[in-house]
Amino acid sequence: MTYTPSNPENVFTYGAPFLKFGPGSSDEIGYDLSLTGAKRALVVTDPGISATGIPQRVAEQMSPFGIDALVYDQVHVEPTDASFREAIEFAREHGPFDAYVAVGGGSSIDTAKAVDLLMTNPGDLMDYVNAPVGEGRNPEQPLKPLIAVPTTTGTGAESTTICVLDVIEHKVKTGISHARLRPTMAVVDPRLILTQPPGVTASAGMDILSHALESWTARPYTAYEHKKPEERVPYCGRNPIADMWATKALHLLSTSFRQSVHHGDDEAARADMSLAATFAGMGFGNAGVHIPHANAYPIAGRVKDFHPADYPGTEPMVPHGMAVSLTAPEAFRFTFETDPDRHIGAARMLAPDAPMTNDPRDLLPSVLMDLMRDIGIPNGIDAVGYDESDIPDLVAGTMKQQRVLASCPREVREEDISGIFERSLTLW
Ligand SMILES: [Zn+2]
Repeated sequence: MTYTPSNPENVFTYGAPFLKFGPGSSDEIGYDLSLTGAKRALVVTDPGISATGIPQRVAEQMSPFGIDALVYDQVHVEPTDASFREAIEFAREHGPFDAYVAVGGGSSIDTAKAVDLLMTNPGDLMDYVNAPVGEGRNPEQPLKPLIAVPTTTGTGAESTTICVLDVIEHKVKTGISHARLRPTMAVVDPRLILTQPPGVTASAGMDILSHALESWTARPYTAYEHKKPEERVPYCGRNPIADMWATKALHLLSTSFRQSVHHGDDEAARADMSLAATFAGMGFGNAGVHIPHANAYPIAGRVKDFHPADYPGTEPMVPHGMAVSLTAPEAFRFTFETDPDRHIGAARMLAPDAPMTNDPRDLLPSVLMDLMRDIGIPNGIDAVGYDESDIPDLVAGTMKQQRVLASCPREVREEDISGIFERSLTLW
């Protein structure tokens, strides 16, 4: 069932960080930070990125501007409530700070958001985590400036108002979501985007693609009840401005995604992917994402023994972008009826030459599956270790993501999600 509000919304909002994009842009962070009046900054990163020396280089160029920088390099990749708390404790012990610089992937940027939040607002981490897992409290005090410097493409964390974490005790991935969490500035320097092996590029790219597709098909802002000013949320639904970014991202992905996976040395293709990630972030950071992202939480959170090719270590994991993509074809088959033209249009932007399918609702799923096959994404959730008997647990995990599911263009019942998981066991 689609939504038919009795008093439809007629206002939408659009927010984005100040953006600096281009090779060498990260050399100017000291200057940019000096404009905020900062005297003491905390640089937040993870041990892997720290080993490249990039965060230290970013920290060093602050001293000419009289800014004292300290590096925290213990961010946990795929952060948990415990790893957030460690970072917060470190900041409390060594603070105060009047600015934060996150250098790394989504994990570092999200950790910096949480540290900034708890260093400026009272209470405990769980007070701010989305309900029903946490209290869903709104931060009342403004946060300190945060500059986000992504070194991996995909997450869009530099543009968004959320930070994602695993709450260990509840075995659930959830987040903190509030407009105050959006970084003040995003510095996207393609020279810092680390050379990624094909498997990592494929998963990160599927995340970018899903951000664009989910925001493009999200519940429109006009399909919500009219809000009071104090009720407005960052994810206000799809709207003309978010749409523009989603379509730009889809066009870039259509020309450069396969190329960046199969020819990682093609700098132009990699620069296109950086730009696509930023564009998609600027769209979904306002419109929201829906079923594929809601399903990705339990798919990644309940991993058994799957370890993907090209990822370091041996720890079981389903990378975020891969987890998102595995139910995307079936999710878009489910949302097709809410706006057939949009679904067909998205498939056409992504694969202009794809032949029309007998049933138009198959077009976008078939374009997606062709791409996933070409770039080595596993064939469904069965291929990452789930079988029929896991579906009730996966469904329960998805149904906890009510804030995300609210962005779906039609109402989502438990049996709908169950059907999507079942049809996603094996995709092709
Ligand atoms: Zn994502």
